[in-house]
Amino acid sequence: MDPLMHLVLPLLFLLALKVDTRRAVLLAPLAVLPDLDALFGLHRALGHSFIPIVLMPMAVLIYSRLKRPDWVPVVLIAQFYLASHVILDMGGVAFLWPFVQEQFYLDLGVTFTASDGFDIGFTADWGMKELQDMGTTSILSDYGFALLFLGVLTAAVFRKEFVDGVRKLWSVTKSLPGMLRR
Ligand SMILES: [Zn+2]
Repeated sequence: MDPLMHLVLPLLFLLALKVDTRRAVLLAPLAVLPDLDALFGLHRALGHSFIPIVLMPMAVLIYSRLKRPDWVPVVLIAQFYLASHVILDMGGVAFLWPFVQEQFYLDLGVTFTASDGFDIGFTADWGMKELQDMGTTSILSDYGFALLFLGVLTAAVFRKEFVDGVRKLWSVTKSLPGMLRR
């Protein structure tokens, strides 16, 4: 999936759930972080495996529960962002890497046939495939563009909520440099 969609979709989801905007924005880069594994030639493996996506955040969560309860909400948002990445990448993720080298994939589809009366069907295909070199990725593919278009339509329908959200997002972004300096 496009890095842009990895960033935007879970962020919108959290904002819709009215999660603290400042936290949601500050942690959003985590939703793209797994794709940095492409830099090591292990794309969809190193950063998409259960170790960084589930085990490490769970360890931090358990530590937080015991020692730093104030961290828990932040760790939960971080866990959500990381998990969202793998879910959006379901087209092929080596989730059990390095123990299993193959990628798991799940392809869901909806078919529409109009030859012999109308018929809507659902298709699901899953299994394992060889780890592919996916070194190059487009920032915004046609699929991402379609989702973005859907987002714009949604924004048009929920104009008021959208403007409020953007205003909040802007005020948080504006205060970022100051927050980082502290
Ligand atoms: Zn990815």
